[in-house]
Amino acid sequence: MRVPRLSWCGISSFGFRHFDFGARILARAPLLKLKVVPSVETVCPSASGGSSTTPMPHDLPKAYDPTAIEDHWAEYWVRENLFAQPTPKPGSTSTHEGSASEASGRRKSESDGQSPFVILLPPPNVTGSLHMGHMFEHTESDILARWHRMRGDRVLWVPGTDHAGIATQMLVERQVVSEGTTRQKMGREAFVERVWKWREHYGGTILGQMKRLGASVDWQREYFTMDERLSVAVREAFVKLHEQGLIYRGAYIVNWCPRCQTAISDLEVVYDEHKGHLWEIRYPVIGDDGKDTGEFLTVATTRPETMLGDVAVAIHPDDDRYTHLHAKMLRLPLTNREIPVILDEWVSRDFGTGAVKVTPAHDPNDFALGQRHNLPSINVMDETAHINAEGGAYAGLDRFVARKKIVEDLEAQGLLAGIKDHTLNIGHCSRCKTIVEPRLSLQWFVKIQPLADKAIAAVRPDAEGKKAIRIFPEQYEKVYLEWMGNIHDWCISRQLWWGHRIPAWSCAVCHKMTVAREDPSQCAHCGSEKITQETDVLDTWFSSGLLPVSVFGWPNITAENRADFDTFYPTSLLVTGFDILFFWVARMIMLGCWFAGDVPMPDGTKRELKESVPFREVYIHALVRDANREKMSKTKGNVVDPIEIVKQYGTDAVRFTLASMASPGTDIAFNIARTEGYRAFANKIWNAARFIFMNVDRAAEIDIKVDPAVLGAMPTVGADAPLEARWIVAELHATVANVNKSLEDYRFDVAAHLIEKFFWGDFCSYYLEIVKLRLDFSDPAKKTATRAALTMLIQVFEVSLRLLSPFMPFLTEEIWHTVYDGNPPAKSIALTQYPQSDNSKIDHGALGAMIVLENLISETRALRKDIGVEENAVVPIEVCAGPGLNASIGGGYEPFLRENLAIVERLARASEVRFVQQISAGLLRRHAYAGDVAVIYEATIDVPAERERLTKDIAKYEKGLASAERQLGSEGFLAKAPLHIVDGLKKQEAETRLLLEKARAALAALPG
Ligand SMILES: [Zn+2]
Ligand SMILES: [Zn+2]
Repeated sequence: MRVPRLSWCGISSFGFRHFDFGARILARAPLLKLKVVPSVETVCPSASGGSSTTPMPHDLPKAYDPTAIEDHWAEYWVRENLFAQPTPKPGSTSTHEGSASEASGRRKSESDGQSPFVILLPPPNVTGSLHMGHMFEHTESDILARWHRMRGDRVLWVPGTDHAGIATQMLVERQVVSEGTTRQKMGREAFVERVWKWREHYGGTILGQMKRLGASVDWQREYFTMDERLSVAVREAFVKLHEQGLIYRGAYIVNWCPRCQTAISDLEVVYDEHKGHLWEIRYPVIGDDGKDTGEFLTVATTRPETMLGDVAVAIHPDDDRYTHLHAKMLRLPLTNREIPVILDEWVSRDFGTGAVKVTPAHDPNDFALGQRHNLPSINVMDETAHINAEGGAYAGLDRFVARKKIVEDLEAQGLLAGIKDHTLNIGHCSRCKTIVEPRLSLQWFVKIQPLADKAIAAVRPDAEGKKAIRIFPEQYEKVYLEWMGNIHDWCISRQLWWGHRIPAWSCAVCHKMTVAREDPSQCAHCGSEKITQETDVLDTWFSSGLLPVSVFGWPNITAENRADFDTFYPTSLLVTGFDILFFWVARMIMLGCWFAGDVPMPDGTKRELKESVPFREVYIHALVRDANREKMSKTKGNVVDPIEIVKQYGTDAVRFTLASMASPGTDIAFNIARTEGYRAFANKIWNAARFIFMNVDRAAEIDIKVDPAVLGAMPTVGADAPLEARWIVAELHATVANVNKSLEDYRFDVAAHLIEKFFWGDFCSYYLEIVKLRLDFSDPAKKTATRAALTMLIQVFEVSLRLLSPFMPFLTEEIWHTVYDGNPPAKSIALTQYPQSDNSKIDHGALGAMIVLENLISETRALRKDIGVEENAVVPIEVCAGPGLNASIGGGYEPFLRENLAIVERLARASEVRFVQQISAGLLRRHAYAGDVAVIYEATIDVPAERERLTKDIAKYEKGLASAERQLGSEGFLAKAPLHIVDGLKKQEAETRLLLEKARAALAALPG
């Protein structure tokens, strides 16, 4: 077999196919001069002043431009093979004590203490391009991969694509038809060659997109399900199952797609409700003398054309209406074939006339009936759903043309008893939407029960209550077990040319089958050379179901060649969507348990079930819907293209949006407004970095230097340090602990919100503002304090970058390199350590004290808004401090506030804090934890002008309110308007009402 590899060759083919990232990469010189440095421990960053080629110190472009930095780093990560996980050297792994009850099945190897964390990318179709569902799945997987990697695990995320039999063949067929030929005219070999060519040129779209989006996969291990080594596994699996008596060939009713001309699985049939008809047809009863008695038995059918293949009419044995027809014969109209009346309890007396025509070759229920009663099967259609020679006068007609003609002919002969409207579910091919035709054909099957038994045992708790595979969220475990409990034999043959051809040869002499690992030259039974290979290929899921074993080298697991398998199998986790739980997940479990079970453990002992499973955990992610919670679909036109959104807001912002909304079991209503918000979050961090770097450079001018050796670890702080330092360190430790815990539980949403709250709320909005007070570069006496403040600032910032890195890998990579002035201690922030917390470092007193300050500041800010103080005005405030309930503050709030006066003044924009026994009369006040607070603000106002302004405002608000109320009161509007419009309107109404009340109060308060 010829297997071309698609290689990704540098910049020219890099990135999205739909718009030109490549050009921009070429145009942009590397931002930073990266030095390759061996490890964190051995390198002391820019302490010595950096290399001679170091650019301007801490050079960060003025504006945050995600596309520019993202292109650059995406390309760098791939070029440097940063996430490659080579095959471990022999002896570096150990027999592991895996157990699904341990988080993510962590296990450590003896020599390097690294636990493997292995994920298999659900291989996208080679025909596919990235959609929002992929982006979501990849975001979750990538966060976990990056997090584990930073925790020191041996992380391997394996990428690849699926050859997608039906989809790819359809696409290329359409192409050759547009060129004036057909696959049949080309012949099998030439057509398959053509598909390979197509794949070489166009098959890399989705992986190219993943590269641009920075997925931290091992590109050196990229596979394609038709690769030679994976094809060997497919062949071995088929032959082995055949040897074990688990593969058979049989006539069976399959869902047949007349367009794709292949059998398709039940899962690939999509049912739609249609308004159709129920035709009632009279079948003449034949008397004992062989002549028509003049009586009719009326049957009802939704597919009259299938009557050409009828072999009986069935009635319920206890149906009193038809007792006299037991053992009679009927004359099948239009063909004049004589068919028996049969008795079967399966027939429902209430449906239609209670008499059912039996067409075993074209209906699954009839097929079962035919089997029970030993009836022949007459197939009346060919592969394209045209009537074949069995259909007599109707031969050659398309099924629906034949239907029309048959109905007309029946009517002409007076055999049509009636036509009734009837709503029915019609199955369509999920690929091409053609109506599926149940059809009898010869297919290959896997006798599935023995495999299913193992797959059930793998998910059920064992005697000790442990599960070899944990499915999360747990509700899917039940769904899986139910499906597995009712599983049918798996039809694995597909009448396609693109795929793994079934390795079976039939003999023209003895008519037996030869199934072999190597292509045979003669029949294994009689030695004849007149053998021909089966033309069918295997179901695509047969090969993708083998991936967990085949990507790690099965079936060639030899003593010298088993390091990959021993280290990486079972994989740790599968992140996937519910839609392929049965298609793919279930099949991987069945095939994985079956085949891996035969591979002995490294020490030669037999492999138990818990070590045979393909993965220890399955995480089923939610669906991404549009902002109105509608399913995205091309026909509705509500598809959000992730590539477009990424272009607008950057990958980091989109990733953060998806992560922040990923609460388990709840579908995501993707809202662009949130992405805008997280773009602003990224921007905030960028500006914080610029501010910090500016100060570092200023400090350097007066010889205040921060020792870079302090970076890379969690900051610690002494009890005598300023409050904000003790507080931010405590917050950081608490946040780190909770983020790690949340990621262990797959709570991406909680982790994202914790990081957002810390980085944006605590660090940027409070800490950074307070630190400005400490950075005094003019007073030599404060040099020590300034250095301490600056050091703490950079330390906390650097840890925050690492904390955020799995969520926003690009932004953090860019800034992190800049922190080290282009001389970083590792090739990437992704290769540094994820922050780990220490509970003893959480200073609860500092946390409590800061809450009091924050509360006073936010109440003051609210007051300023209430009374209309201009944004930049600095005005006095009054504080009537309380007794100091907070344990850490003790002796009253006043001394505490005096101690932190500078913080309050700066953040509350207070020119002065007046401590009073009572808030002055006439001042609007608010209650803060520390006591009542009031803002002193006497603006001189022109009373008549103010009255006019307020009156106008009131009229405007009243009008707006009336209009909103009218709309919200209209049921027609509520029924039709999209949810976000209604929500927006409600919000607007509430806001207007508030403004109106305020304006009325202000008007009433005006003097005179
Ligand atoms: Zn089809
Ligand atoms: Zn033979």
